[in-house]
Amino acid sequence: MIPRLIIIGAGISGLTAGVYAAKSGFRTLILEKCATPGGVSTCWKRKGYTFEGGVHWLTGSGDHLPLNKVWREAGALKENNPVYNKDPFFVLETPSGELPLWRDPGKMYRTLLEHAPEDRRPIRQLKRHIRWFKYFHSPVTDIPGLERSVPKPWSPMEFIRMFPALLLAPWLWAISVGDYVSRFRNKDLKDLLGSIMNPGHNALSFIVTVSSFCYGDSGYPSGGSLLMARNMEETFRRCGGEIRYNTPVERIVEEDGKVKGAMAGGDLIESDAVLVSVDARNAIDRLFSPTLTDRWALKMRRRLRTGQCMFIGFGVRADLRELPKSMVFPLGKPFEAGGLSFNTLNIHNYAMDGYAPEGCTTLTVLLLGDSYSYWKAAREDGSYYDRKQDVVQRLCRMVEELIPSVKGLIEVTDMATPMTVERFCGNHQGGYMTLWQKHTLTPVAPLRYRKGIYFAGLRTSLSGGLPIAVSTGRKVVQYICRDFGLPFGGY
Ligand SMILES: Cc1cc2nc3c(=O)[nH]c(=O)nc-3n(C[C@H](O)[C@H](O)[C@H](O)COP(=O)(O)OP(=O)(O)OC[C@H]3O[C@@H](n4cnc5c(N)ncnc54)[C@H](O)[C@@H]3O)c2cc1C
Repeated sequence: MIPRLIIIGAGISGLTAGVYAAKSGFRTLILEKCATPGGVSTCWKRKGYTFEGGVHWLTGSGDHLPLNKVWREAGALKENNPVYNKDPFFVLETPSGELPLWRDPGKMYRTLLEHAPEDRRPIRQLKRHIRWFKYFHSPVTDIPGLERSVPKPWSPMEFIRMFPALLLAPWLWAISVGDYVSRFRNKDLKDLLGSIMNPGHNALSFIVTVSSFCYGDSGYPSGGSLLMARNMEETFRRCGGEIRYNTPVERIVEEDGKVKGAMAGGDLIESDAVLVSVDARNAIDRLFSPTLTDRWALKMRRRLRTGQCMFIGFGVRADLRELPKSMVFPLGKPFEAGGLSFNTLNIHNYAMDGYAPEGCTTLTVLLLGDSYSYWKAAREDGSYYDRKQDVVQRLCRMVEELIPSVKGLIEVTDMATPMTVERFCGNHQGGYMTLWQKHTLTPVAPLRYRKGIYFAGLRTSLSGGLPIAVSTGRKVVQYICRDFGLPFGGY
């Protein structure tokens, strides 16, 4: 009898696991609470404008990387969504001109040095750090004792070349992005480098990210998040998988220590195994009865810090193709929103085909930081919509000031808060990642909990994000294959 696997959640991790499980011969059913695939990695439309609320850069998009093979096998990257590499990948816009961050590390070094000769030392160090991480990438490894139907080539050189990065990693892990950036004296450099990611992450994630831009990775799949997820859904169905939308799972059902299936809409859907690819932090409280009390689960309840953001989108009746794709504006006066204060504003420019009506442009702003409790309180005291409206209106005025060519031309606005993410995807505190702080190991759920119950995606690895979703989605199927005696049917 072919074993039946239920996957809870059609986010990127659930879809990846679905493809690999179906390829490995399981009867695979994905149950998804929302009406679309992709989870938090998604786009949506407002009056003809498409807002990209998910992927901004895709680790593993570079086709020289092993992870790229996984993205392609999972169906995420196809002919209909070629990878586009923004260059420069960020541009600081100041009254005295532009300061670009080029992908070419030599060109980046020269540009930064010319702009801030007083920072020669930290700039040289940045260049060196980036170079040391040149060969660092997410390795695509197998679990011990795996039987495979397709042999996978393996090269020890892949790991040997990562050695310099491993030497530097402990030092970078012990300081935050904020600490790293504070070593620069020039304010423009601080603003530009400090705006790439949440300054609360450790500097290791920062250098890995910047280095990936510099060495041919972290491009943007054209068409965006939703097309990428739909491509994966199509691959999953082609491999024989089934997916049911608008089907929230209420509980995992076990009897005498054996999995029976999942309860959805009051009905038991039977299966031999269940993979939880929803936010594990919520799953341990909501999907298990009794709730999980293993050591890792207790740690997760106590110590998890989620990475959250506010998202604001603008539809503009102007073609802004001439402007850079990702602009960083230093602000004269901090912008206050969601109980947080921002000294710079990152504006992403989607003046490309398919994102806006002819001659128009979609702009988006991400305000990174922990604003969940602010918005939750606003929801409880009834001021949520007024407060959102206030943020949107003030931001509109600010965008018009920063980019005068859009003045009077913003015709559509939209805003999502961590409450929106919580409502749609059920993620803990509306978080889309885990904040991987300096000097800490974040609590994670095991991929194999026990035979029949598995985890993948958010909260199963240090920080999260798309590379973790795809790699844990692949690896967890290896555990399932090993437990059920089926050969793994993928790369
Ligand atoms: C604005 C934004 C920008 C981002 N930019 C990037 C980026 O540039 N690069 C990057 O690497 N990462 C980025 N991320 C992070 C990345 O998108 C996520 O970390 C990743 O998509 C998480 O995937 P997942 O499958 O683990 O979880 P999720 O996407 O959370 O998927 C879980 C799925 O389970 C469903 N679900 C929940 N509960 C149930 C239930 N009870 N029953 C059935 N279904 C359920 C949810 O609806 C959801 O579809 C970004 C995220 C956001 C929000």
